[in-house]
Amino acid sequence: MSASIIDGKAFAAGLRERIGVLASAFEAAAGRKAGLAVVLVGEDPASQVYVRNKGKQTIACGMESFEHKLPAETSEADLLALVETLNADPAVDGILVQLPLPAHMNEQKVIATINPDKDVDGFHVVNVGRLATGLPGFVPCTPLGCVMLLKDQLGSLSGLDAVVIGRSNIVGKPMAQLLIAESCTVTVAHSRTRDLPDVVRRADIVVAAVGRPEMVKGEWIKPGATVIDVGINRVAGAQEGKSRLVGDVDFASASTVAGAITPVPGGVGPMTIAVLLRNTIVAAHRNAGIALDESAI
Ligand code: NAD
Repeated sequence: MSASIIDGKAFAAGLRERIGVLASAFEAAAGRKAGLAVVLVGEDPASQVYVRNKGKQTIACGMESFEHKLPAETSEADLLALVETLNADPAVDGILVQLPLPAHMNEQKVIATINPDKDVDGFHVVNVGRLATGLPGFVPCTPLGCVMLLKDQLGSLSGLDAVVIGRSNIVGKPMAQLLIAESCTVTVAHSRTRDLPDVVRRADIVVAAVGRPEMVKGEWIKPGATVIDVGINRVAGAQEGKSRLVGDVDFASASTVAGAITPVPGGVGPMTIAVLLRNTIVAAHRNAGIALDESAI
């Protein structure tokens, strides 16, 4: 193996430490803790784990966590009413509605009801527009975490060729916007891309956000490229009945060619909640009118 391993777990721990310092300074200045409200509708087991981890890490960073667990049969009107209450609550700086929502709810409508200045997930169209036009807003946590890892690894990204595989609203598209803002030359590949290996081979930076286990092979990677693997896929393990997590990149072959690569688990995954907490402390400062050098976090 020649690639250096990008340790997202360690980076996220450092980020949470910086947020903790900012959170206690915020509490001293504002006379209250920064607060994150997380709304979970239904009993989806994966969502329950995410929400529990978000709550734990919010408290560990010295912020207030408000958890709202609603039954799966909650009406859309009741959920929208809760979001409006949180919008109006001065103790709540950030609001996150855990997706996916039950089928009888319109996700876009729910996201559109969140006050964009409390939308720490960055999914509201106002924040999507702010990102596209270079205005300050909130950026989706996973792609922002990827850019933090890239800048930590490479310094300036200016002029580099980046290929993003995947065009989802949550990862691929905001990832492409962020890389454009970093002055990369960006290609977005997706399920209809012709000759994907050839497209990937041009890239100094490869970001894989596809959801297909070990799809990106080492022979697709330009020697020395930096590879960011967003994928989280559960596959059968070596022992019967056991499973393991793999990314969208075939780590064994890609790590012999790449200059640097994120592992799965322990790469991008731990960054998502840490960046959520970063967005929350940023929201708290903005909402309270307290100055903060956001670029230094
Ligand atoms: P998605 O299903 O919304 O989008 C997948 C994208 O991949 C689509 O744009 C599609 O065009 C593209 N695609 C599908 N098949 C392809 C192919 N054969 N070749 C090229 N492109 C193809 O998924 P998503 O929400 O963007 O998530 C992608 C992956 O990232 C998943 O594994 C998900 O679990 C993971 N994820 C991880 C985190 C994290 O915290 N690390 C956060 C979000 C998503």
